[in-house]
Amino acid sequence: MIVAQRKPLDEIIAKAEPFKKVVIAGCETCVAECHAGGKKEVEILAAQLRIAFNRKMVPVEISECSIERQCEPEMIESCAEQIAAEEAVLSLACGVGVQQMAERFPNLPVFPGLNTTFMGTHSAPAKWEERCAGCGNCVLDLTAGICPIARCSKSLLNGPCGGAHDGKCEVSEEIPCAWAEIVERLTKQGKLGQLRQIIPAKEWDTARDGGPRKLIHGEAAP
Ligand code: SF4
Ligand code: SF4
Repeated sequence: MIVAQRKPLDEIIAKAEPFKKVVIAGCETCVAECHAGGKKEVEILAAQLRIAFNRKMVPVEISECSIERQCEPEMIESCAEQIAAEEAVLSLACGVGVQQMAERFPNLPVFPGLNTTFMGTHSAPAKWEERCAGCGNCVLDLTAGICPIARCSKSLLNGPCGGAHDGKCEVSEEIPCAWAEIVERLTKQGKLGQLRQIIPAKEWDTARDGGPRKLIHGEAAP
């Protein structure tokens, strides 16, 4: 899922303050799962903003809505009438949802309430870690299901660098060395010999380096 965290309250207050009517739009999928932008977080942020504007005696009316997935244009329609009546939108979606919202309401200022961080998963309760960098050419079959692009600090494809020690990355003692983990898993699987197969230099044109990417589904395309 896409992991994000809320921007600092002061930053959000400063963005909302110039408007008379602001709707906070939540997103009920990834960012709800990581407790950043779901219905509950919309309610909490709305309460915080109302208190802040009351204290400052600034007349900003805050309303709330929640959309199943802001990144899907048709789902935005569930709240479109309400949003169209507002002066500004504070979107608690990931960057894709914010952009979709801005496209749907080109005359409304839409500003992000979250900082979108990475594609990741729960590694422990209340803790998320990056797992995929969306490189566009997945090699997980060669690396025991551990991503060397997202989880190795140098995105190395053929084994660890010289800085790994005691299974930790040289960047920080807090970061497991992805290649130590790959070696450990392959050893358990009895497949360590697989590492003799050199992974060729990566074609980064499928990644962000090739510019903004598109996916066209042949059969479903109009
Ligand atoms: S190899 Fe590429 S697509 Fe596969 S998990 Fe890693 S970054 Fe994601
Ligand atoms: S120590 Fe391991 S994870 Fe860190 S950069 Fe080197 S190979 Fe990659």
